[in-house]
Amino acid sequence: MTSTLEIVRAVKRYPNGHLAVKGVDIAVGEGEFAVFVGPSGCGKSTLLRMVAGLEKATEGEIRLSGRVVNDVEPADRDIAMVFQNYALYPHMSVYDNLAYGLRNRRTPRAEIDARVREAAALLQIGEYLPRKPAQLSGGQRQRVAMGRAIVRHPAIFLFDEPLSNLDAKLRTQMRLEIRRLQRRIGVAAVYVTHDQVEAMTLADRIVVLNEGRVEQIGAPKEVYDRPASTFVASFIGAPAMNLFPATVEGGAAHVEGGAAPLTRNGVAGPATVGLRPEKARLGRAGEGLPFRIDTVEELGATRLAHGRLGAADFVVSLDAAYEIPADAASVTADPEDLHLFHPETGARL
Ligand code: ADP
Repeated sequence: MTSTLEIVRAVKRYPNGHLAVKGVDIAVGEGEFAVFVGPSGCGKSTLLRMVAGLEKATEGEIRLSGRVVNDVEPADRDIAMVFQNYALYPHMSVYDNLAYGLRNRRTPRAEIDARVREAAALLQIGEYLPRKPAQLSGGQRQRVAMGRAIVRHPAIFLFDEPLSNLDAKLRTQMRLEIRRLQRRIGVAAVYVTHDQVEAMTLADRIVVLNEGRVEQIGAPKEVYDRPASTFVASFIGAPAMNLFPATVEGGAAHVEGGAAPLTRNGVAGPATVGLRPEKARLGRAGEGLPFRIDTVEELGATRLAHGRLGAADFVVSLDAAYEIPADAASVTADPEDLHLFHPETGARL
């Protein structure tokens, strides 16, 4: 797969000495939708701004379609930032909003008209071209915002938390809209968010960042099913993966008062064990790992049984149709659903 974007051993040290990006390698393929996700301060916006040319890389290379662009001005990079729909000019028609950037670049009028109509056709907003943004639905405005990026014919779209100011319902709708549009247009995208649900639903590949480093890169399902570290395990998925300390011995994870069989992988000694809430089952006393329920949350389709496994908080996600037995006192799991991590570094074992 040819790479549209390559970030090679990128380092960013801000003038105040803060090291925000600590040697990052990421490649984004043609047409690929990559999501950079991580908690606030992990360096995701810095990375995106380095790609856009708004921040200079301290070390390393940024390549777009094979060309090193470290010293190329943002306007001369083959990129388009997609902003939230509020960035539309309210007093201008949709047509003029789409044409604005091209006019500023002194693109010939006929070329502008052709590109605006091409984008409008792609986005299915042809009939709205004479309207003002206020006369459009949220979804239509999102399309116009994308349209402003599309008319530039960029190699890659860059999104910086475009949905964070919207209410939950509109956010879900816009998320779908962005996914559909990017699929239809087939241009690569980098999307930055702290929201793991957005990352899971939008991405072809997720890049999980933590303190200026890449924790894991993979397809959403891969990252969910085989988190590379306790950091990823607890960041991706809601409710988060349960993590608790145990001792691995004789093919089982032992805690005080119980044990759970593991698939054999040669690990022995102390470990952090992970189990997703939906993979945990309730059992009777002595059947698995001792678990004491203290609160039950009803979520409609599911029900969360919260409690303690030893000293650790633990939650089991259950189908709402399932009656919690009065004598539930343990947790069991299929051996392949138990994840093992290094007790100190948190790395997957
Ligand atoms: P994120 O987008 O993941 O929340 P940022 O990339 O914005 O994180 O920031 C990464 C780190 O760099 C943070 O600790 C932030 O405080 C710091 N930082 C961001 N911009 C600057 C700046 N201009 N000067 C100094 N430090 C900065």
